[in-house]
Amino acid sequence: MSEPLLLATSNPGKSEEFRRLLSSLPLTLIDLKEAGLEDYRVEEDGKTFSANAWKKALFYSRLFPGPVVADDSGLLVPRLGGFPGVHSARIAPTVQERNLLLLQKASSLKGPDREALFRTSLALAWKGRKIALFHGEVRGRLLEEPSGEGGFGYDPLFYYHPLRKSFAQAEGESKNRVSHRGRAVEALLRFLLVHPYPWDL
Ligand code: IMP
Repeated sequence: MSEPLLLATSNPGKSEEFRRLLSSLPLTLIDLKEAGLEDYRVEEDGKTFSANAWKKALFYSRLFPGPVVADDSGLLVPRLGGFPGVHSARIAPTVQERNLLLLQKASSLKGPDREALFRTSLALAWKGRKIALFHGEVRGRLLEEPSGEGGFGYDPLFYYHPLRKSFAQAEGESKNRVSHRGRAVEALLRFLLVHPYPWDL
């Protein structure tokens, strides 16, 4: 087996997405469960996506001998001061309530003011050291009501014009190619191809 790279997530959907996007790497991706680290939790209390991604990557890189990748992401509506931002997963107890709350807050916004962005920060750490940080962003528009059954989280509210669909209507592959996470992972992939592991620190 090639060297393992730990993906600091216990979300099977996310690890599957990462595995597909990073399949060309000469590293074996494992998640927290496979590494026996699923009981170790990190509180995502940073003020930015980058702070949370670093916090997780550095924490697990002190427990795991190989490279560690951790991400944090969310939705931002510029005309709502970046709401929900780093609090995307916690503004209300359920997905439905979170989506409803966002629609209520955005109810007075019209046309271009309904611009919304998904953002991801992806941190790469090794042996308790920062190696590199990557970002991905995708711009769309907040719909007036949910549309589509697929995806997760805010996907039914996020209309992506180039696909002429909401992210919840887009097939997994077409969303992954253009998504914030997909773009951040592509940047990570380019880095790893140019700077193969192990690094000379
Ligand atoms: P995470 O840090 O990637 O787990 O994302 C935090 C929260 O941001 C999630 O619970 C979702 O509410 C939201 N989010 C992040 N990425 C997406 C996405 O691709 N689609 C919909 N919601 C997302």
